[in-house]
Amino acid sequence: MATDALLAASAMQVGIRRLLDRHPLLGGIVAQWRVAASDIGTMGVCWEGDRIALLYDPAFVMAITRDQLVGVLMHEVRHVVYGHCFMDPAEWPDWGALRIAQEVTVNEGLDDLPGQPIVLSDYPQLPLDTDTRERYGILATTDQPNAGFGDPTLDSHDGWRQLRENETMVTAQIRSAVDEILAGGINLKDDAEDLQRLRRRFPSIGNRSGSAMERLPQLTRDITVHELQRDLEARTGWARTRGYRFDRPSRRAPHLLGVVPAIAPVRRKVKANAVVDTSGSIDGATLASISAILSRLADTAEWTVVECDAAIQREYPFSGALDMAEGRGGTDFRPPLESAFLENRQTELVVYFTDGLGPAPRQQPQVDVIWALTKNGRPPASWGLVLRVES
Ligand SMILES: [Zn+2]
Repeated sequence: MATDALLAASAMQVGIRRLLDRHPLLGGIVAQWRVAASDIGTMGVCWEGDRIALLYDPAFVMAITRDQLVGVLMHEVRHVVYGHCFMDPAEWPDWGALRIAQEVTVNEGLDDLPGQPIVLSDYPQLPLDTDTRERYGILATTDQPNAGFGDPTLDSHDGWRQLRENETMVTAQIRSAVDEILAGGINLKDDAEDLQRLRRRFPSIGNRSGSAMERLPQLTRDITVHELQRDLEARTGWARTRGYRFDRPSRRAPHLLGVVPAIAPVRRKVKANAVVDTSGSIDGATLASISAILSRLADTAEWTVVECDAAIQREYPFSGALDMAEGRGGTDFRPPLESAFLENRQTELVVYFTDGLGPAPRQQPQVDVIWALTKNGRPPASWGLVLRVES
């Protein structure tokens, strides 16, 4: 049982990760939710404490393929971003028709779903290019309601009542997730239809027009390790600070060179954090490339290694080689870029090693940030410098 629970939790992480890769809009939204095991039978969205929560039944998750899981995750996020969870059954009296209209709409384009999903092709009377409300209108009847329609096999809609009761907060959470995704300049071509439906339902969210969003200037600029080294050398110029140096003769005791230090300009090192995104697996070659970059820059910077997946896991001074465990999944670029975290450590520069998918701060923090991208990753924000890590 315990093993199954762990395997299911891990499968959920893999599913969310795949969704992030394939559909960064839907994945980026679900990545902000609380994900919790439950005896719900299938999967479902609800409100828990102060957050949107995705509940999954470990037995259900273990019984389906990972790709089917991605389909079910899309089904769940779409129910929220299409506003289905806010449709009060009191206003949509033919519950069966409502369920069919909602299910066929979220299942559009998903051809690998478990069980017997309710799909558009079973309802030829429903037009292709329309939405849930219009489809309900076509299906709903007053004399012969569809109310006897059975429970869905794919997911549970029981938690929606709580979402409805917290609509303002639910909307605010979706808005904050979508704003960050849009600000990140991530390519959303595979999410165009979902983004359009989201905007239709929540006109206040992500209201930049699609074309304008695609034209958003990329403020990031590519640099090389060599340029970074030159930049660090420039800001750690010899004259900046004075300190004890044993390689210079002391003015008072010049004959005691090496014993009595001189007070002379010393090279100051930049306090820098090397954040490593451990949410995915990092292969040995990539780790070696990261170590090589840090070693090359060790003369000019004092590196603190920060391991972070969805949260900061470890922090230690860089000592020449890296060895880190595989992460737990879930990526969040924000914790190591928070002002308090940076101020406490007097950080001047952050080099973030990542493949680049996940929520990043909308605004550049008060320090320089370099997205050191592995595996052909894309920068997760529209600001910052970009360094390509060869591996
Ligand atoms: Zn559903």
